[in-house]
Amino acid sequence: MTHSKKHTDSMPDAFIPYGRQSISEDDINAVVDVLRSDFLTQGPCVEAFEQAVAKKVDAHFAVAANSATSALHMACLALGVTEGDRVWTSPNTFIASANCARYCGAEVDFVDIDPHTYNLCADKLAEKLAHAKHNNTLPKVVIPVHFAGQSCDMQAIHRLAQEYGFRIIEDASHAIGATYQQAYVGACQYSDICVFSFHPVKIITSGEGGMALTNQPHLAKQLRTFAHQGTTKCADELTQTPGDWYYEQHILGFNYRMTEMQAALGLSQLAKLDAFIDQRHQQFALYAELLANLPITRPFQQDSGHSSLHLYPILLPSNIKNGQKVEPSARKAIFDALRSANIGTQVHYIPVHTQPYYQALGFAWGDFPIAEDYYQRTLSLPLFVGLTSEQQERVVAVLACALAEQGML
Ligand SMILES: *Cc1c(COP(=O)(O)O)cnc(C)c1O
Repeated sequence: MTHSKKHTDSMPDAFIPYGRQSISEDDINAVVDVLRSDFLTQGPCVEAFEQAVAKKVDAHFAVAANSATSALHMACLALGVTEGDRVWTSPNTFIASANCARYCGAEVDFVDIDPHTYNLCADKLAEKLAHAKHNNTLPKVVIPVHFAGQSCDMQAIHRLAQEYGFRIIEDASHAIGATYQQAYVGACQYSDICVFSFHPVKIITSGEGGMALTNQPHLAKQLRTFAHQGTTKCADELTQTPGDWYYEQHILGFNYRMTEMQAALGLSQLAKLDAFIDQRHQQFALYAELLANLPITRPFQQDSGHSSLHLYPILLPSNIKNGQKVEPSARKAIFDALRSANIGTQVHYIPVHTQPYYQALGFAWGDFPIAEDYYQRTLSLPLFVGLTSEQQERVVAVLACALAEQGML
Protein backbone atom coordinates (compact mmCIF):
# COMPACT_ATOMS: atom_id res chain seq x y z
CA MET A 1 0.00 0.00 0.00
CA THR A 2 3.03 2.26 -0.25
CA HIS A 3 1.68 3.85 -3.42
CA SER A 4 -1.72 4.83 -2.07
CA LYS A 5 -2.04 8.58 -1.78
CA LYS A 6 -4.00 10.10 1.03
CA HIS A 7 -5.58 13.44 0.44
CA THR A 8 -3.93 16.15 2.54
CA ASP A 9 -4.06 19.91 2.32
CA SER A 10 -0.57 19.97 0.85
CA MET A 11 -1.61 17.65 -1.98
CA PRO A 12 -3.22 19.30 -5.02
CA ASP A 13 -6.79 18.24 -5.82
CA ALA A 14 -7.12 15.64 -8.56
CA PHE A 15 -7.37 16.96 -12.12
CA ILE A 16 -10.92 17.45 -13.40
CA PRO A 17 -11.06 17.44 -17.21
CA TYR A 18 -13.70 19.44 -19.14
CA GLY A 19 -15.01 16.19 -20.57
CA ARG A 20 -14.15 12.52 -20.61
CA GLN A 21 -15.57 9.09 -21.33
CA SER A 22 -17.45 6.88 -18.87
CA ILE A 23 -16.43 3.25 -19.33
CA SER A 24 -17.86 0.38 -17.28
CA GLU A 25 -17.19 -3.36 -17.01
CA ASP A 26 -19.84 -4.22 -19.59
CA ASP A 27 -18.14 -1.91 -22.12
CA ILE A 28 -14.80 -3.61 -21.45
CA ASN A 29 -16.32 -7.08 -21.74
CA ALA A 30 -17.98 -6.15 -25.04
CA VAL A 31 -14.61 -5.17 -26.54
CA VAL A 32 -12.82 -8.22 -25.09
CA ASP A 33 -15.49 -10.50 -26.59
CA VAL A 34 -14.70 -9.06 -30.03
CA LEU A 35 -10.96 -9.64 -29.51
CA ARG A 36 -11.72 -13.32 -28.84
CA SER A 37 -14.01 -13.56 -31.90
CA ASP A 38 -13.31 -14.25 -35.59
CA PHE A 39 -13.69 -10.67 -36.79
CA LEU A 40 -11.79 -7.55 -35.78
CA THR A 41 -13.18 -5.65 -38.76
CA GLN A 42 -16.02 -6.18 -41.27
CA GLY A 43 -17.90 -8.43 -38.86
CA PRO A 44 -21.35 -8.34 -37.25
CA CYS A 45 -20.80 -5.57 -34.65
CA VAL A 46 -20.55 -2.66 -37.08
CA GLU A 47 -23.85 -3.57 -38.73
CA ALA A 48 -25.48 -4.11 -35.33
CA PHE A 49 -24.23 -0.70 -34.14
CA GLU A 50 -25.46 1.00 -37.32
CA GLN A 51 -28.90 -0.57 -36.97
CA ALA A 52 -29.12 0.24 -33.27
CA VAL A 53 -28.28 3.92 -33.79
CA ALA A 54 -30.68 4.19 -36.74
CA LYS A 55 -33.45 2.61 -34.63
CA LYS A 56 -32.69 4.82 -31.63
CA VAL A 57 -32.89 8.10 -33.55
CA ASP A 58 -35.53 6.89 -36.03
CA ALA A 59 -33.47 7.20 -39.23
CA HIS A 60 -33.84 4.80 -42.15
CA PHE A 61 -30.13 4.26 -42.83
CA ALA A 62 -26.84 4.54 -40.91
CA VAL A 63 -23.27 4.19 -42.17
CA ALA A 64 -20.47 3.89 -39.61
CA ALA A 65 -17.07 5.52 -40.13
CA ASN A 66 -13.75 5.69 -38.31
CA SER A 67 -14.47 9.29 -37.22
CA ALA A 68 -17.04 12.03 -37.59
CA THR A 69 -14.50 13.85 -39.73
CA SER A 70 -14.57 10.93 -42.19
CA ALA A 71 -18.37 10.80 -41.98
CA LEU A 72 -18.59 14.54 -42.78
CA HIS A 73 -16.24 14.06 -45.72
CA MET A 74 -18.27 11.18 -47.14
CA ALA A 75 -21.48 13.16 -46.53
CA CYS A 76 -20.10 16.00 -48.69
CA LEU A 77 -19.02 13.50 -51.35
CA ALA A 78 -22.43 11.80 -51.32
CA LEU A 79 -24.08 15.17 -51.95
CA GLY A 80 -21.74 15.73 -54.89
CA VAL A 81 -19.68 18.55 -53.36
CA THR A 82 -16.78 19.28 -55.66
CA GLU A 83 -14.49 22.05 -56.91
CA GLY A 84 -16.35 25.26 -57.64
CA ASP A 85 -19.09 24.47 -55.10
CA ARG A 86 -19.72 26.50 -51.97
CA VAL A 87 -20.34 25.06 -48.50
CA TRP A 88 -21.36 27.20 -45.52
CA THR A 89 -21.07 26.37 -41.84
CA SER A 90 -20.80 27.99 -38.43
CA PRO A 91 -17.57 29.71 -37.33
CA ASN A 92 -18.23 28.44 -33.79
CA THR A 93 -17.30 24.81 -34.35
CA PHE A 94 -14.47 22.34 -34.54
CA ILE A 95 -12.43 22.77 -37.73
CA ALA A 96 -13.70 19.45 -39.14
CA SER A 97 -17.12 20.99 -39.96
CA ALA A 98 -15.38 23.22 -42.52
CA ASN A 99 -12.46 21.02 -43.55
CA CYS A 100 -14.80 18.32 -44.93
CA ALA A 101 -15.80 20.70 -47.72
CA ARG A 102 -12.17 21.68 -48.38
CA TYR A 103 -11.31 17.97 -48.88
CA CYS A 104 -13.73 18.07 -51.82
CA GLY A 105 -12.15 21.23 -53.22
CA ALA A 106 -15.16 23.39 -52.35
CA GLU A 107 -15.03 26.99 -51.16
CA VAL A 108 -16.01 27.39 -47.51
CA ASP A 109 -17.87 30.35 -46.05
CA PHE A 110 -19.41 30.96 -42.64
CA VAL A 111 -22.64 32.33 -41.16
CA ASP A 112 -22.36 34.20 -37.87
CA ILE A 113 -23.95 32.80 -34.72
CA ASP A 114 -27.01 33.53 -32.62
CA PRO A 115 -25.84 35.39 -29.50
CA HIS A 116 -28.01 33.24 -27.18
CA THR A 117 -27.60 29.68 -28.45
CA TYR A 118 -24.17 30.20 -30.09
CA ASN A 119 -25.56 28.17 -33.03
CA LEU A 120 -25.52 29.25 -36.68
CA CYS A 121 -28.13 32.03 -36.85
CA ALA A 122 -31.03 31.29 -39.21
CA ASP A 123 -31.79 35.02 -39.71
CA LYS A 124 -28.19 35.74 -40.68
CA LEU A 125 -28.34 32.74 -43.01
CA ALA A 126 -31.45 34.19 -44.68
CA GLU A 127 -29.72 37.56 -45.21
CA LYS A 128 -26.59 35.97 -46.58
CA LEU A 129 -28.59 33.75 -48.95
CA ALA A 130 -30.50 36.72 -50.37
CA HIS A 131 -27.18 38.39 -51.02
CA ALA A 132 -25.64 35.27 -52.53
CA LYS A 133 -28.62 34.77 -54.83
CA HIS A 134 -28.11 38.29 -56.12
CA ASN A 135 -24.39 37.60 -56.72
CA ASN A 136 -24.96 34.10 -58.07
CA THR A 137 -22.87 32.58 -55.28
CA LEU A 138 -25.42 30.35 -53.53
CA PRO A 139 -24.06 27.41 -51.49
CA LYS A 140 -24.58 23.80 -52.53
CA VAL A 141 -24.57 22.58 -48.92
CA VAL A 142 -25.06 24.20 -45.51
CA ILE A 143 -23.68 22.41 -42.43
CA PRO A 144 -25.46 23.55 -39.25
CA VAL A 145 -23.63 22.44 -36.09
CA HIS A 146 -25.68 21.61 -32.99
CA PHE A 147 -23.34 23.42 -30.63
CA ALA A 148 -23.00 21.90 -27.15
CA GLY A 149 -25.81 19.45 -27.97
CA GLN A 150 -28.60 21.96 -28.62
CA SER A 151 -30.25 21.71 -32.03
CA CYS A 152 -30.08 24.59 -34.48
CA ASP A 153 -33.35 26.08 -35.74
CA MET A 154 -33.68 23.29 -38.30
CA GLN A 155 -37.22 24.19 -39.40
CA ALA A 156 -36.08 27.66 -40.46
CA ILE A 157 -32.91 26.34 -42.10
CA HIS A 158 -34.91 23.68 -43.94
CA ARG A 159 -37.38 26.30 -45.20
CA LEU A 160 -34.44 28.29 -46.59
CA ALA A 161 -33.05 25.12 -48.20
CA GLN A 162 -36.34 24.71 -50.07
CA GLU A 163 -36.34 28.34 -51.12
CA TYR A 164 -32.72 28.53 -52.26
CA GLY A 165 -32.08 24.93 -53.28
CA PHE A 166 -29.22 23.87 -51.04
CA ARG A 167 -28.72 20.55 -49.21
CA ILE A 168 -28.23 20.14 -45.45
CA ILE A 169 -25.69 18.09 -43.48
CA GLU A 170 -26.23 18.34 -39.72
CA ASP A 171 -22.96 18.20 -37.80
CA ALA A 172 -24.47 16.55 -34.72
CA SER A 173 -21.11 15.53 -33.26
CA HIS A 174 -22.31 16.97 -29.92
CA ALA A 175 -25.91 15.93 -30.16
CA ILE A 176 -26.59 12.18 -30.19
CA GLY A 177 -29.55 11.63 -27.88
CA ALA A 178 -30.71 15.24 -28.15
CA THR A 179 -34.20 15.99 -29.45
CA TYR A 180 -35.68 18.72 -31.63
CA GLN A 181 -39.44 19.18 -32.11
CA GLN A 182 -40.20 15.86 -30.37
CA ALA A 183 -37.87 13.87 -32.66
CA TYR A 184 -34.33 12.68 -32.01
CA VAL A 185 -31.55 14.58 -33.75
CA GLY A 186 -30.52 12.15 -36.49
CA ALA A 187 -34.08 11.46 -37.67
CA CYS A 188 -33.19 13.76 -40.61
CA GLN A 189 -36.64 15.39 -40.64
CA TYR A 190 -35.08 18.64 -41.83
CA SER A 191 -31.80 17.50 -43.38
CA ASP A 192 -30.29 15.18 -45.97
CA ILE A 193 -27.60 13.65 -43.76
CA CYS A 194 -26.81 13.87 -40.04
CA VAL A 195 -23.38 13.03 -38.58
CA PHE A 196 -22.53 11.85 -35.04
CA SER A 197 -19.07 11.65 -33.39
CA PHE A 198 -18.02 8.98 -30.91
CA HIS A 199 -14.77 10.63 -29.82
CA PRO A 200 -14.20 10.05 -26.06
CA VAL A 201 -15.20 13.58 -25.02
CA LYS A 202 -18.55 13.31 -26.83
CA ILE A 203 -21.83 11.92 -25.41
CA ILE A 204 -21.04 8.23 -26.06
CA THR A 205 -17.77 6.86 -27.38
CA SER A 206 -16.27 4.16 -29.57
CA GLY A 207 -12.70 5.42 -29.04
CA GLU A 208 -12.58 7.08 -32.42
CA GLY A 209 -15.67 6.81 -34.57
CA GLY A 210 -18.51 8.49 -36.35
CA MET A 211 -21.73 7.73 -38.18
CA ALA A 212 -23.76 9.27 -40.99
CA LEU A 213 -27.55 8.91 -40.96
CA THR A 214 -29.98 9.52 -43.79
CA ASN A 215 -33.49 8.62 -44.90
CA GLN A 216 -32.59 8.61 -48.59
CA PRO A 217 -31.63 5.17 -49.97
CA HIS A 218 -29.52 6.66 -52.77
CA LEU A 219 -27.46 8.70 -50.28
CA ALA A 220 -27.04 5.70 -47.98
CA LYS A 221 -25.60 3.71 -50.86
CA GLN A 222 -23.26 6.56 -51.83
CA LEU A 223 -22.05 6.98 -48.23
CA ARG A 224 -21.29 3.28 -47.92
CA THR A 225 -19.47 3.20 -51.25
CA PHE A 226 -17.26 6.20 -50.35
CA ALA A 227 -16.37 4.58 -46.99
CA HIS A 228 -15.40 1.30 -48.70
CA GLN A 229 -12.85 2.36 -51.33
CA GLY A 230 -15.53 3.25 -53.88
CA THR A 231 -16.35 -0.42 -54.34
CA THR A 232 -19.63 -2.29 -54.65
CA LYS A 233 -20.72 -5.92 -54.57
CA CYS A 234 -24.39 -5.19 -55.26
CA ALA A 235 -25.47 -7.45 -58.13
CA ASP A 236 -27.64 -4.76 -59.69
CA GLU A 237 -24.67 -2.39 -59.95
CA LEU A 238 -22.03 -4.75 -61.36
CA THR A 239 -21.20 -4.68 -65.06
CA GLN A 240 -20.58 -8.46 -64.95
CA THR A 241 -20.97 -11.26 -62.38
CA PRO A 242 -18.17 -13.76 -62.93
CA GLY A 243 -18.35 -15.16 -59.38
CA ASP A 244 -18.69 -14.59 -55.71
CA TRP A 245 -15.19 -13.08 -55.35
CA TYR A 246 -16.08 -10.22 -57.61
CA TYR A 247 -16.43 -6.56 -56.70
CA GLU A 248 -16.12 -3.42 -58.78
CA GLN A 249 -14.72 0.02 -58.13
CA HIS A 250 -16.83 2.68 -59.81
CA ILE A 251 -15.64 5.81 -58.01
CA LEU A 252 -12.61 6.89 -55.98
CA GLY A 253 -13.40 6.12 -52.33
CA PHE A 254 -11.60 5.83 -49.03
CA ASN A 255 -11.00 3.31 -46.26
CA TYR A 256 -13.20 4.97 -43.64
CA ARG A 257 -14.36 1.75 -41.99
CA MET A 258 -15.02 1.42 -38.27
CA THR A 259 -13.50 -1.63 -36.53
CA GLU A 260 -15.47 -4.30 -34.67
CA MET A 261 -13.86 -3.25 -31.36
CA GLN A 262 -15.07 0.32 -31.88
CA ALA A 263 -18.57 -0.82 -32.85
CA ALA A 264 -18.82 -3.18 -29.85
CA LEU A 265 -17.87 -0.34 -27.51
CA GLY A 266 -20.27 2.04 -29.24
CA LEU A 267 -23.12 -0.46 -29.05
CA SER A 268 -22.50 -1.05 -25.36
CA GLN A 269 -22.39 2.71 -24.73
CA LEU A 270 -25.57 3.34 -26.72
CA ALA A 271 -27.56 1.37 -24.13
CA LYS A 272 -26.60 4.03 -21.58
CA LEU A 273 -27.24 7.08 -23.78
CA ASP A 274 -30.41 8.30 -22.05
CA ALA A 275 -28.96 7.73 -18.56
CA PHE A 276 -25.83 9.65 -19.55
CA ILE A 277 -27.88 12.61 -20.77
CA ASP A 278 -30.06 12.54 -17.62
CA GLN A 279 -26.93 12.78 -15.51
CA ARG A 280 -25.66 15.72 -17.58
CA HIS A 281 -28.98 17.49 -16.98
CA GLN A 282 -28.64 16.97 -13.22
CA GLN A 283 -25.15 18.48 -13.36
CA PHE A 284 -26.51 21.32 -15.51
CA ALA A 285 -29.18 22.04 -12.89
CA LEU A 286 -26.61 22.05 -10.07
CA TYR A 287 -24.37 24.47 -11.98
CA ALA A 288 -27.39 26.75 -12.45
CA GLU A 289 -27.79 26.87 -8.67
CA LEU A 290 -24.11 27.21 -7.85
CA LEU A 291 -23.48 29.89 -10.48
CA ALA A 292 -26.69 31.87 -9.86
CA ASN A 293 -24.96 34.74 -8.06
CA LEU A 294 -21.91 35.04 -10.29
CA PRO A 295 -21.80 37.70 -13.02
CA ILE A 296 -21.49 35.22 -15.88
CA THR A 297 -23.98 34.10 -18.53
CA ARG A 298 -25.05 30.50 -18.11
CA PRO A 299 -25.83 28.43 -21.23
CA PHE A 300 -29.33 29.13 -22.52
CA GLN A 301 -31.74 26.29 -23.26
CA GLN A 302 -34.48 26.70 -25.87
CA ASP A 303 -37.78 24.88 -25.41
CA SER A 304 -37.77 23.54 -28.99
CA GLY A 305 -35.89 20.44 -27.83
CA HIS A 306 -33.89 18.61 -25.20
CA SER A 307 -30.13 19.20 -25.42
CA SER A 308 -27.64 16.38 -24.93
CA LEU A 309 -25.53 18.95 -23.00
CA HIS A 310 -22.15 18.07 -24.46
CA LEU A 311 -20.55 21.26 -23.11
CA TYR A 312 -21.12 23.82 -20.37
CA PRO A 313 -19.91 27.09 -21.94
CA ILE A 314 -20.14 30.12 -19.64
CA LEU A 315 -19.75 33.67 -20.91
CA LEU A 316 -17.83 36.29 -18.96
CA PRO A 317 -19.41 39.75 -18.78
CA SER A 318 -18.30 42.36 -21.35
CA ASN A 319 -18.11 45.05 -18.68
CA ILE A 320 -17.03 45.11 -15.04
CA LYS A 321 -19.43 46.59 -12.45
CA ASN A 322 -18.00 50.09 -12.91
CA GLY A 323 -18.71 49.89 -16.66
CA GLN A 324 -15.08 49.37 -17.58
CA LYS A 325 -14.65 46.97 -20.52
CA VAL A 326 -13.34 43.48 -19.73
CA GLU A 327 -10.06 42.89 -21.57
CA PRO A 328 -9.31 39.53 -23.26
CA SER A 329 -6.50 39.16 -20.70
CA ALA A 330 -9.18 38.65 -18.02
CA ARG A 331 -10.42 35.47 -19.71
CA LYS A 332 -6.85 34.19 -19.91
CA ALA A 333 -6.30 34.97 -16.22
CA ILE A 334 -9.47 33.07 -15.24
CA PHE A 335 -8.56 30.18 -17.55
CA ASP A 336 -5.08 30.02 -15.98
CA ALA A 337 -6.48 30.21 -12.43
CA LEU A 338 -8.77 27.24 -13.13
CA ARG A 339 -5.97 25.28 -14.78
CA SER A 340 -3.55 25.90 -11.90
CA ALA A 341 -6.25 24.61 -9.54
CA ASN A 342 -6.27 21.43 -11.65
CA ILE A 343 -9.56 22.21 -13.35
CA GLY A 344 -9.50 21.37 -17.05
CA THR A 345 -11.45 24.26 -18.48
CA GLN A 346 -11.32 24.64 -22.28
CA VAL A 347 -12.40 27.15 -24.91
CA HIS A 348 -15.05 26.07 -27.45
CA TYR A 349 -14.36 27.33 -30.06
CA ILE A 350 -11.64 29.42 -31.65
CA PRO A 351 -13.64 30.79 -34.63
CA VAL A 352 -12.68 28.58 -37.56
CA HIS A 353 -12.24 31.50 -39.98
CA THR A 354 -9.44 32.91 -37.77
CA GLN A 355 -7.28 29.79 -38.15
CA PRO A 356 -4.16 30.64 -40.18
CA TYR A 357 -5.25 28.12 -42.82
CA TYR A 358 -8.58 29.93 -43.32
CA GLN A 359 -6.98 33.39 -43.07
CA ALA A 360 -4.71 32.32 -45.94
CA LEU A 361 -7.93 31.70 -47.92
CA GLY A 362 -8.98 35.31 -47.35
CA PHE A 363 -10.82 35.38 -44.01
CA ALA A 364 -9.88 37.85 -41.28
CA TRP A 365 -10.70 38.83 -37.71
CA GLY A 366 -13.79 40.99 -37.87
CA ASP A 367 -15.60 38.85 -40.45
CA PHE A 368 -17.97 37.19 -37.93
CA PRO A 369 -18.10 39.54 -34.94
CA ILE A 370 -20.63 37.67 -32.79
CA ALA A 371 -18.65 34.43 -32.92
CA GLU A 372 -15.47 36.39 -32.20
CA ASP A 373 -16.90 38.27 -29.24
CA TYR A 374 -18.30 35.01 -27.86
CA TYR A 375 -14.88 33.38 -28.30
CA GLN A 376 -13.10 36.13 -26.35
CA ARG A 377 -15.37 35.64 -23.33
CA THR A 378 -16.20 31.94 -23.19
CA LEU A 379 -14.93 29.12 -20.98
CA SER A 380 -16.26 25.57 -20.84
CA LEU A 381 -16.66 24.22 -17.32
CA PRO A 382 -16.26 20.47 -16.69
CA LEU A 383 -19.35 18.46 -17.62
CA PHE A 384 -19.20 14.67 -18.02
CA VAL A 385 -20.69 11.46 -16.68
CA GLY A 386 -19.04 10.75 -13.34
CA LEU A 387 -18.40 14.41 -12.40
CA THR A 388 -19.45 14.67 -8.73
CA SER A 389 -21.35 17.49 -7.04
CA GLU A 390 -18.31 18.06 -4.78
CA GLN A 391 -16.20 18.55 -7.91
CA GLN A 392 -18.76 20.98 -9.33
CA GLU A 393 -18.66 22.94 -6.05
CA ARG A 394 -14.87 23.05 -6.26
CA VAL A 395 -15.02 24.32 -9.86
CA VAL A 396 -17.43 27.12 -8.92
CA ALA A 397 -15.43 28.08 -5.80
CA VAL A 398 -12.24 28.46 -7.85
CA LEU A 399 -14.13 30.34 -10.56
CA ALA A 400 -15.61 32.76 -8.00
CA CYS A 401 -12.12 33.51 -6.61
CA ALA A 402 -10.78 34.09 -10.10
CA LEU A 403 -13.68 36.42 -10.99
CA ALA A 404 -13.08 38.37 -7.79
CA GLU A 405 -9.38 38.74 -8.63
CA GLN A 406 -10.39 40.22 -12.00
CA GLY A 407 -12.67 42.75 -10.32
CA MET A 408 -15.80 41.08 -11.62
CA LEU A 409 -17.33 40.25 -8.24
C1 LIG B 1 -15.60 16.32 -32.43
C2 LIG B 1 -16.18 17.07 -33.55
C3 LIG B 1 -15.96 16.72 -34.88
C4 LIG B 1 -15.00 15.66 -35.30
O1 LIG B 1 -15.26 14.45 -34.71
P1 LIG B 1 -14.19 13.27 -34.83
O2 LIG B 1 -15.01 12.05 -34.53
O3 LIG B 1 -13.16 13.55 -33.78
O4 LIG B 1 -13.64 13.27 -36.19
C5 LIG B 1 -16.63 17.41 -35.87
N1 LIG B 1 -17.44 18.43 -35.56
C6 LIG B 1 -17.66 18.82 -34.30
C7 LIG B 1 -18.59 19.95 -34.03
C8 LIG B 1 -17.02 18.15 -33.25
O5 LIG B 1 -17.20 18.57 -31.99
